Amino acid sequence: MPQINRREFLTSMAAGTSAMTAVKKSRAATSSPSQGPAGRAAGLADPAFRPLPLGAVKPRGWLLRQLRIQAAGLSGHLDEFWPDVGQSKWFGGQAEGWERAPYWLDGFIPLAFLLDDAGLKAKAAKYVEYIVAHQRPDGWYGPYPEDAVAKRYDMWAILLADKMLVQYHDATGDERVLRAVEKSLRAILSGLDKTPLYDWGRYRWFEGLIPAFYVYEKTRESWLLDLARKLRSQGFDYPAFYAAEDVTVPTPRRGLWKWGKHVVNTGMAAKAAALSWRLGRSEADRAFAVKMIEILDRHHGQATGIFTGDECLAGKNPVQGTELCAVVEFLYSLEHLVSVFGDPLFGDRLEKVAFNALPATFSPDMWAHQYDQQANQIQCTINPDHMWTTNGPESNLYGLEPNYGCCTANMHQGWPKFAAHLWMTTPDGGIAAVAYAPSEAKWMSRGTPAAVSVETDYPFRETIHITVRTERPVRFPLVLRVPAWAEGATLKIAREEEKKLKPGTFHRLEREFRGVVEVNLRFPMKGRVAPRYNEAAAVERGPLVFALKIGESWTRVNADKPHRELPHGDFEVRATTPWNYGLLLDETDPAASLSFEERPVGDKPFSPEGAGVVARVKAKKIPTWRPAHGWAGEIAPGPYETREPEETVELIPYGCTNIRVTEFPRLRQASPASKADA
Ligand SMILES: [Zn+2]
Repeated sequence: MPQINRREFLTSMAAGTSAMTAVKKSRAATSSPSQGPAGRAAGLADPAFRPLPLGAVKPRGWLLRQLRIQAAGLSGHLDEFWPDVGQSKWFGGQAEGWERAPYWLDGFIPLAFLLDDAGLKAKAAKYVEYIVAHQRPDGWYGPYPEDAVAKRYDMWAILLADKMLVQYHDATGDERVLRAVEKSLRAILSGLDKTPLYDWGRYRWFEGLIPAFYVYEKTRESWLLDLARKLRSQGFDYPAFYAAEDVTVPTPRRGLWKWGKHVVNTGMAAKAAALSWRLGRSEADRAFAVKMIEILDRHHGQATGIFTGDECLAGKNPVQGTELCAVVEFLYSLEHLVSVFGDPLFGDRLEKVAFNALPATFSPDMWAHQYDQQANQIQCTINPDHMWTTNGPESNLYGLEPNYGCCTANMHQGWPKFAAHLWMTTPDGGIAAVAYAPSEAKWMSRGTPAAVSVETDYPFRETIHITVRTERPVRFPLVLRVPAWAEGATLKIAREEEKKLKPGTFHRLEREFRGVVEVNLRFPMKGRVAPRYNEAAAVERGPLVFALKIGESWTRVNADKPHRELPHGDFEVRATTPWNYGLLLDETDPAASLSFEERPVGDKPFSPEGAGVVARVKAKKIPTWRPAHGWAGEIAPGPYETREPEETVELIPYGCTNIRVTEFPRLRQASPASKADA
């Protein structure tokens, strides 16, 4: 459907903010060859861009280092000491037999195949084979009770397991795995009549569409789409919920836990409209995908492009937390959204969350993670007097399973799925860069083997070097996302004239590619200042958000708790340098107050010392910025007054910090007249 790529996306973004804004699209035609008579949808609508098979995109450069850190940390070893995975009922053990083992494999499988690591792949094969070999003749997997169909049984973990297993088939082509998923989906279809979706399954119904669509595209059996429609009809109605007021109201401290405002359900549900659109091509689905994120931004948005939820939606206050599960699920949702709708703003958001909120919530070695991260996170300590809505006192510790073990099991999908979705194919034989990081991708263009490789230190640098290789001359489009913030973006090929690119679009470079073609992109990264909650200010450059670099002291805690042997212990983190700064920003041109220095990207790209770029800005301490409501870093409406001397402070990328201030209070500036008096 070439009209998808001819679309012009006109975006308007409020100056300096990252809010997902209204997208006006001029579409050529609404019908497509796959649409049946009288506009009635038949089959499954094609996505704008199609993800490549798992393993076709490979990480390089800093991204490869990051995935290796992940494999050497908790992700590669969790099954070796954590009973809820290693001795899971899914693998014949006696520990938890619900979501934890499938969660872990859902990230571990793509990690193994992206790294093409024989040891990790053998481990994945061992566990997947156990699950498939122990599937019952009626289609239910091992951990499910014999009476699962007759009694009420929450379908969630089985939807998750099938979603996980199709990734393994995608990477290996193992037919037994495809047949197992098909059998499981048949069991779900008949099971749904006896036990309709409820609880987790009801709020996560759309997860079942992922394996159903996957098997449908292999077999074209229409009952799979019946299953998808049945899941949708029994599932929670998110558009109706977002049309009412409750979702806009922050959950009060010690407030009521609600399914519809549960932050992980929210991160997952962001893709429901994209999956639903493929079933019915409803314009309402397309519109809701954008509207849902707008509502989340307006009422719960954070500087990093994520929303709060600790663990229900918690408003814009930068001391509220965001659960790690919500971060990785929102990323996966954005990968679906950009794939199905081809809207570049979803790619912008994908990068923003992946480069900021994702890395920040891990220790740099990826052995420890938080349950909740905060934009203004002055300390991470066991704190009974905390700000969370329904979470417990250990929620922002760095550790093995702070607060609850879901993130321990589910965190692994973040980086690998992001890496696997950097490149996607177009319907006309081309390839699209939906997000940028050092990588390689291989695909077949009209029967000709083709490859792209990306050399870059983006997002720490503004230049991206892409090499396109084809075995024979072949004509196809190279589709390049131009970020909405990239004013002055350019494209240059060898001796050809430099081309200006329009921010907030997909640029389509269509030509006959022969041999090796070098494409150079430049996305100028000017500093920006985003207005935040209670008149605070956040500093951005390109897709990166910046936060105050604070000296850290790490203290081991919970050493006597089970499974906390090092290197997978629990830690408190406290500040050893002042954090109570307000920024001195030029009110008329705030970006002019910022200066940036590029540094080598470290072995650990997301660590305080590995920061590939730093910002400097004038600031003053605010002695009166004291903890409010018992939680340091909370901001009252400004401007703040201070007589402290002017200092220059260093900011580093949010993802490089472990404790931080991201949303800075506004300082009352001396007027030009009073400056002259002094
Ligand atoms: Zn979680």
